[in-house]
Amino acid sequence: MTNTYIVADENTGEAVVIDPADEGRRIAEELHKRNWRIVNIWLTHAHFDHIAGAAELADNSKPIPPVALHAADNQLWRIQGGAAFFGMKIDPGPEPTIELRHDQILNLGSYQFKVLHAPGHTPGHVMFYNESESVLFCGDVIFQGSIGRTDLPGGDYETLINSINSRVITLPDETVLFTGHGPQSTVGIERQFNPFIS
Ligand SMILES: [Zn+2]
Ligand SMILES: [Zn+2]
Repeated sequence: MTNTYIVADENTGEAVVIDPADEGRRIAEELHKRNWRIVNIWLTHAHFDHIAGAAELADNSKPIPPVALHAADNQLWRIQGGAAFFGMKIDPGPEPTIELRHDQILNLGSYQFKVLHAPGHTPGHVMFYNESESVLFCGDVIFQGSIGRTDLPGGDYETLINSINSRVITLPDETVLFTGHGPQSTVGIERQFNPFIS
């Protein structure tokens, strides 16, 4: 029930996978079908349902793509994204070697993504923003008509609301929100209809 995104520069064939939630083999097959080469795995945060497909994806990729994560979620990654909390056990895959920082620019072919730190759902939650295409991969920060839960370890409601107000709602209305769960939305729609935004 978690969204995985494959993002590519079709001119260069370079691709990243954002949140390999599950079915890593299937993600690898989709890449292969399109002749895209995975260069990185970008994690919005380390919850188990967003990383559970990373091991299988890495096993089916050559060379193994480096994993990017914010340092404040390293601890969560080390405990398998809190899987035990839900009575589960996962292989979190290759250890993250790219440390994401706020305002960092990530290149994918000719596209640039800005890392936006947005804590509250987890301490090290980040979003990936591409200004020229007006898209934001926002993970579990905000959903269509809702927001990420803050009752799990490391969550904090005030911090999340502050992240949304300062780092999501400040983006242009037409910005498409690709969320970690459920359908996509836009900043304009959420500004108008999301009950958690005042
Ligand atoms: Zn989460
Ligand atoms: Zn999630």
